[in-house]
Amino acid sequence: MYELTRPLPAYHFGPIAILGDAAHPMTPDLGQGGCQAIEDAVVLAQVLEGGAVRDRLPAFTAARHRRTVTIVRQSRRMARVGQLSTPLVVSARTGAMRLVGRLPARFTERALSPVIDWRP
Ligand SMILES: Cc1cc2nc3c(=O)[nH]c(=O)nc-3n(C[C@H](O)[C@H](O)[C@H](O)COP(=O)(O)OP(=O)(O)OC[C@H]3O[C@@H](n4cnc5c(N)ncnc54)[C@H](O)[C@@H]3O)c2cc1C
Repeated sequence: MYELTRPLPAYHFGPIAILGDAAHPMTPDLGQGGCQAIEDAVVLAQVLEGGAVRDRLPAFTAARHRRTVTIVRQSRRMARVGQLSTPLVVSARTGAMRLVGRLPARFTERALSPVIDWRP
């Protein structure tokens, strides 16, 4: 599994923009790679409304960079937890996941809301 450990400084260069996995490949542990690609596309379409492409693209990086870098990091953290293999730690993880599974959905939804509550 490959990801980009050092974020790109920007998602545009002159009149060229990159989005999705080309811009911010992440581990699949949050199920967000495709979602973020779609968000990128929505924002790119918005920033390109009116004005020259070259002038508009910095707004694309500005709108998308921090959010996607944060989600890449969160995904990486989930991957690390998911790949722990020491038996004692695996038991603790399994127990914790069981507990989380018993919580009302609103708790997990709240924890995930910074990721899933995005609005264009
Ligand atoms: C195991 C796994 C589970 C995942 N689960 C989820 C999930 O639950 N939810 C979620 O949102 N995301 C998930 N993802 C991530 C998601 O699949 C990707 O983030 C998403 O597909 C990225 O879309 P993209 O369009 O940026 O890139 P891609 O889907 O990689 O599309 C790029 C396309 O460009 C083509 N291409 C490459 N080079 C060229 C070229 N030179 N000329 C023409 N075409 C070219 C490729 O063939 C490809 O079709 C998962 C990924 C993995 C690996």
